[in-house]
Amino acid sequence: MKTKILLDEEQIPKKWYNVQADMPSPLDPPLHPKTQKPVGPQDLAAIFPMELIKQEVTTDRYVDIPEEVRDVLRLWRPSPLYRAHRLEKFLKTPAKIYYKWEGVSPAGSHKANTSIPQAYYNKQAGIERIATETGAGQWGSALAFATMLYDLECTVYMVGSSYHQKPYRKSMMNVWGAECIPSPSTRTNSGRAVLEKDPETPGALGIAISEAVEDAATHANTNYALGSVLNHVCLHQTIIGQECREQLAMVEDYPDVVIGCVGGGSNFAGIAFPFAGDKLTGKHKDVDIIGVEPASCPTLTKGAFMYDYGDVAGLTPLLMMYTLGHDFVPPSIHAGGLRYHGDSPIVSRLVHDGVMRAVSLHQSEAFEAGQTFARTEGIIIAPETSHAVKVAIDEALKCKKTGEEKTILFNCSGHGNFDMSAYDAFHAGRLVDYEYPDELIREAIGRIPSIQ
Ligand SMILES: *Cc1c(COP(=O)(O)O)cnc(C)c1O
Repeated sequence: MKTKILLDEEQIPKKWYNVQADMPSPLDPPLHPKTQKPVGPQDLAAIFPMELIKQEVTTDRYVDIPEEVRDVLRLWRPSPLYRAHRLEKFLKTPAKIYYKWEGVSPAGSHKANTSIPQAYYNKQAGIERIATETGAGQWGSALAFATMLYDLECTVYMVGSSYHQKPYRKSMMNVWGAECIPSPSTRTNSGRAVLEKDPETPGALGIAISEAVEDAATHANTNYALGSVLNHVCLHQTIIGQECREQLAMVEDYPDVVIGCVGGGSNFAGIAFPFAGDKLTGKHKDVDIIGVEPASCPTLTKGAFMYDYGDVAGLTPLLMMYTLGHDFVPPSIHAGGLRYHGDSPIVSRLVHDGVMRAVSLHQSEAFEAGQTFARTEGIIIAPETSHAVKVAIDEALKCKKTGEEKTILFNCSGHGNFDMSAYDAFHAGRLVDYEYPDELIREAIGRIPSIQ
């Protein structure tokens, strides 16, 4: 019985899979933030290179991965698929648990799967600098790694509370040559406006996005990059699920359950879309695809499915997605990441249509599962990832009751080596469980402009 199921370098997928080709109806188009008319490629050209804009809107089933990009991916891909023998034994479950280990990338998470192609296409387009935001710092460090490889400058607006709680993510960005600024900052109009209203604000992803978009839109040599949510980002992550399908085929298996944690939806999309495609095209009807989010930021489980901005200042296009309202500020007691107010429009649509489903968890149960994972499989995972582990454990325990030998697959999105203060807080009993109140969600959703 194998523990690591490994592919050869040559088996890195040659194409990204676009699930839009297999969806029963097209996505609702993004709308211009001011005119509320569908945005055209020209509207996006101020901040994105044309190749990425094309990937954002294409409904082709496959998009070729440039050889130059595959050459960089070889540094850590194909990533290993593990059979969690020790976790299974600990749980005494008849289920088979597999996890795809994305923490092997230099930046420590799946995010490098998209930072590399994004930096590549920007370089091709003659761009000199990329501005972005980062929450916990994983995306900022993944982009810093990629821009370093392509000799681009990189400016990262990091959510203020994380900047102070996680200083070593900033250090990583600096090692790779990027600058990292706590957000809100005084560099942008959006940042200054927030600071004027609330000088003590902990910051939020929606605010940092406004700053990065403004920076890119006001500098000709600078583009913007996003680490999640958008269609092209989810597209780039589909190498995860494609590799999993190959790896499981090597041991003659196929998942009954596929699980990923959801912040903006990209690692979940990455593992899930190829299997969602199998489901949509009738190749495998029964696979249960589950996205897991925190109860303190319950976008898919309690948000509204409607058009909303991606950021606080309302600079981004309006996206049709599940949202908690663009001015959502997550409670600062929350240590488990996954704090974005919206979600990938494709993930949102597939959840809305019942192709996939979503559940929410409290942070203490997620950390407990993360600890169980560390004490069985050894790897200390990111708090975000522990949400997926918790649901994998729950599904395996259900099998223990029913005696079913299901195959459970989850995405192990990244390591937690920089999250020790959160694990410390968990050990000290300082993590408070918090369910975001329905009342606040209703109010925030009431502040979303209605689309005419
Ligand atoms: C960023 C991140 C997430 C959440 O982002 P998604 O776009 O939802 O995948 C989850 N896990 C890790 C390790 C991350 O770095």
